Amino acid sequence: MALKKEVKLKWWDKIYLPAVLKGMGITISHFFKTLFTPPSKRYTIEYPDRRKEDIPEWYRGLHRLNTYPDGTLKCVACYCCATACPADAIYIEAEDLEDFDKEYPKEKGPKVFQIDLHRCIYCGFCEEACPKDAIVLTNHYEIVHTSREAGIFGIEDLIKTKREGGE
Ligand code: SF4
Ligand code: SF4
Repeated sequence: MALKKEVKLKWWDKIYLPAVLKGMGITISHFFKTLFTPPSKRYTIEYPDRRKEDIPEWYRGLHRLNTYPDGTLKCVACYCCATACPADAIYIEAEDLEDFDKEYPKEKGPKVFQIDLHRCIYCGFCEEACPKDAIVLTNHYEIVHTSREAGIFGIEDLIKTKREGGE
């Protein structure tokens, strides 16, 4: 049985004015607090004039497709990442390779590997699901596009992703 608690509102509660004034008081107090706090101690970073330098390694930003030292993609087009992705953001087309004479032989690889960054929720499930350490989320956070098409990253884009401040 659901329990109901009846709240009796007084007339000044019903006109909502005290609640509005209380809310405005909190906003104004924060305004003055921020105004008199030195910029170095403020939480807000005035991006892009100032950039956050200490992005933690565990931050889940732009993806990178990893390669072996000879440039071969580690990805074997197993579809584990695409299957694990809750946002349906990964699209893969596999191709047979049979590169058995190479230093890093592969039976299969991705002909097409795309991530729709507009759909991605940066959960990291793709990285968790990958059996080959082929996809990682880096701490690169500057992800800007001016069209939907530009937000779909393919193999060449994803290979180039660098971490903030380094590889
Ligand atoms: S981070 Fe999450 S939502 Fe984004 S591509 Fe990977 S699994 Fe999908
Ligand atoms: S990135 Fe990893 S999980 Fe995704 S298809 Fe390639 S090997 Fe499989």
